[in-house]
Amino acid sequence: MTEVEPTRPQLSVARRLDRCTVLGPGTRAVIWVQGCPLRCHGCVAAETLPFEGGTAYTVDELAEWICGLPDVEGVTLSGGEPFSQAAGAAALLDAVRARRPDLSAMAYSGFRYEALRKGGEERRALLRRLDLLVDGPYVASRHDSLRWRGSANQRIVALTDRYAHLASGPDTSAGVELSLEADGSLSWAGVPPAPGFREGFEEQLAARGFVLHTQARREA
Ligand code: SF4
Repeated sequence: MTEVEPTRPQLSVARRLDRCTVLGPGTRAVIWVQGCPLRCHGCVAAETLPFEGGTAYTVDELAEWICGLPDVEGVTLSGGEPFSQAAGAAALLDAVRARRPDLSAMAYSGFRYEALRKGGEERRALLRRLDLLVDGPYVASRHDSLRWRGSANQRIVALTDRYAHLASGPDTSAGVELSLEADGSLSWAGVPPAPGFREGFEEQLAARGFVLHTQARREA
């Protein structure tokens, strides 16, 4: 099979996090890309939806960052819609594996796996580089407390053998994780186990005078 060379060696990024244990197996670096063509009711990452904004990074900049992080076992691509930047994301995973072949790769998508496979060579190239895919749109009426995903229609698809054993593991929410940023503010990551988490959480913090960076905080 002929591999297609990625043609856009950069990504538009809404946020990145250097240590996360609730968005995939083990401890992971996470990149939230900027821009999603879908508009799921109840989307918890509304700031990532416009394709405008975000911070442009070359794949080499991001690969250097990921590979310099201690104790991560892989990278998770979230968003936003990673498959809207499939060529850049595939190039990033190639650049990471060139430096650290041991790192795993996971991505979220609002599209079903079957649709991604039919969605063109750039999307198939990204799929070939993933160990895990969480697929499908968020459906608020089917919200549930599930491992790494928010609604029951979403699936964890094992694309390699690396995490195939997870299919028989417990399927309960990994929860939400708070991080203290370098500037002293709080941010959160994860898939809330209950709907409405973000509004209630942020309102309660604001009422107590805390400033919380949203999940899709743009980088300065
Ligand atoms: S696919 Fe994800 S980022 Fe896009 S609107 Fe749906 S929940 Fe939000």
